[in-house]
Amino acid sequence: MEGLFEDIVGQELAVSILARALAQGASHAYLFTGPAGVGKSEAALAFAAGLACREGGCGTCTTCRRALEGLHPDVEMVAPDGSSILIDQIREINSHVAYRPFEARAKVYVLFEAETMNQQAANAFLRTLEEPPPHVHFILVSNAAERMLPTIASRCQHVPFTRTPAPLIAGHLERRYGLTKDDARLYSRVAQGSLAYARELATSAEARERRGRLIESASTLPEAGLLATERMLDETLLAVEKRADHQVEGLDAKRDKALDWAGDARTRSWINKMHDQRVRRERRRAVGMGLEEVTGTFAGWYRDMAASSVGAEDAVLNQDYLPQLHLEAPPGRTLPCLQAVMAVRKAQERLRYNVDTRCAVGDMFRAIKEALI
Ligand SMILES: [Zn+2]
Repeated sequence: MEGLFEDIVGQELAVSILARALAQGASHAYLFTGPAGVGKSEAALAFAAGLACREGGCGTCTTCRRALEGLHPDVEMVAPDGSSILIDQIREINSHVAYRPFEARAKVYVLFEAETMNQQAANAFLRTLEEPPPHVHFILVSNAAERMLPTIASRCQHVPFTRTPAPLIAGHLERRYGLTKDDARLYSRVAQGSLAYARELATSAEARERRGRLIESASTLPEAGLLATERMLDETLLAVEKRADHQVEGLDAKRDKALDWAGDARTRSWINKMHDQRVRRERRRAVGMGLEEVTGTFAGWYRDMAASSVGAEDAVLNQDYLPQLHLEAPPGRTLPCLQAVMAVRKAQERLRYNVDTRCAVGDMFRAIKEALI
């Protein structure tokens, strides 16, 4: 069973709750909470595999492997359609829950971005959540659980995920990817608690280039003219969208593989439907992660400027940019730098509440320029 959760690093509490549930009997509903990039989605699929597997989560049988890939017909994934989970999506769940699983031990529904359920959808969901059939389990996943209806949250067992501590990430990067101590330390700090981003930095030259470009944008933004600022905004947002498109391209091949496994027409039609949901979900997730990367890099940069301006070099995240930070953040610049950090934090908060992306990032750019003028 350890195998199921081996890629979830630094989440002992969450993993112990889930492992115990698989060993001793699981509740009907779980709510995974915590920031993006710490392994909630991966853990949700692993837990779903454990619930579906007839061996209680062996990690190796076809049920486990297909569930882990998000391709098992008894593990259904629901993601927002547009910006919310709609009542029609919940009605569909409600009308299907009574059916027995196709082949697995249980039927598992994973609801991503569960906080986006609107009031109608939430009310419809509540009825099923109150009295689900014995073979059904729900896993709700949310980065913003404080926005969920209390009546729903209170009917789920909470599984808290937290930012992964930098030393744990660093150790993982060294062991898993053979990074040097220095590189592992640098990427673990730059990632600011997001294991997913740290892994990307460790394994992708493209991610490292992106980081360089974002730091350059953060550094030149305060001096940039109006046109240059607009261009920077366009390019930044376009890059996030393009990368999200690119990330979902590979999913078609996975669907084809699942169709090869599928025995009958009913299963095949489920797989096709799940594929559409999956593309939507993964794309939203990729855009969300892309925006986190942008705002995280900006916040990290201005935070580093503030640290550098008071001589707190040990606290600097972007250690490989120390000489540049010295030049850009002389003593006395601390307060404006912290105001720029606040501007980014505000944008992050707005993005969590699904404010229009261009509006949130554009306002952030303007506020940063005002702070650092
Ligand atoms: Zn198994």
